[in-house]
Amino acid sequence: MKSRGVMGHDGCPKLGYSPPRRSVVIRIPMTDLFDFKNHRRRFAVVGHPVMHSKSPQIHEAFARQCNVSLAYEAIALDPIAFEQGVRNLQAGGMAGLNVTLPFKEVAFRLSDEVSERARIANAVNTLSFSENDQVIGDNTDGIGLVRDLQQNLSVSCADARVLIVGAGGAARGIAQPLLQTRPACMVIANRTASRARELAALIGSPGEVYPCAFDEISDPFDLVINATAASLSSEVPALPEAVFHSGSTAYDLAYADQPTAFMRWALGLGVAQAVDGLGMLVEQAAESFWIWHRQRPQTAPVMSTLRSGVR
Ligand code: NAP
Repeated sequence: MKSRGVMGHDGCPKLGYSPPRRSVVIRIPMTDLFDFKNHRRRFAVVGHPVMHSKSPQIHEAFARQCNVSLAYEAIALDPIAFEQGVRNLQAGGMAGLNVTLPFKEVAFRLSDEVSERARIANAVNTLSFSENDQVIGDNTDGIGLVRDLQQNLSVSCADARVLIVGAGGAARGIAQPLLQTRPACMVIANRTASRARELAALIGSPGEVYPCAFDEISDPFDLVINATAASLSSEVPALPEAVFHSGSTAYDLAYADQPTAFMRWALGLGVAQAVDGLGMLVEQAAESFWIWHRQRPQTAPVMSTLRSGVR
């Protein structure tokens, strides 16, 4: 059995998206925004909360590798004034933004142009500002997951039975890119079954993707992807144990410095491997880096640094 999670110093899960400890809105001095001194192109991840984000560390490591001069910071934006916050950053000279919870859908709505994958996801995690002040939105979450599965974990989705658990923003981002890998069968199960039906109808033609409620699952899957927010509160979606066989891969989009509740549950049921979403995080960042800088960084050393950093 293989687990790709890592342990914490204090024995507590340290999840990628931790609950807010306090509400912080960073106000940036205009001199910082323009960065007159060194003319580095400026980027940021915006969210609320966002100070826990590993994106600055990841993009700075990519930049060192690729000899790109940039500044990258984490900025908490006020949820009631997100669009104004983005416009201020754009006017202040930012070249691009990564967008995290809870702003991916509003970022989609404010974009002047979106990629096909962002349109299907109805969510944007990468914004670029063009010279004529257009806001261009993309979504790199799905390609990030597919690359982690195929390139880092050697998990083939082609001809596999794939189950996506969840129908929120993350599930919307990954469903279409996963479908493009031509699985033998794709099922979307959600606690609220109507949302699974909506998502299945959005991404596939009838008979291509099957929506269901958790208690309708009776057969095992080769790949089970937990795209719910349950791990953030150390819960496991109420799936039947029959969802796995001994060769299954259990993939949790959440990441932590120790195996998540979903990973522990799956490993307890004897799956072949259980992995967390840190690889997806780094791969989606690499795709954003490509969009902004047209360079493809190596992701393995960055993942390894992040893993050692949290041990
Ligand atoms: P979201 O839009 O709020 O959607 C939440 C989903 O989780 C819904 O399908 C919801 O079901 C379900 N859910 C919540 N609590 C549950 C529970 N206790 N049992 C069963 N289902 C539950 O959140 P999101 O943006 O999709 O994020 C989902 C996860 O993906 C989070 O853990 C996030 O950290 C992770 N993520 C990771 C990456 C990465 O790069 N690794 C990127 C994006 C997201 P209902 O519809 O029934 O409410």
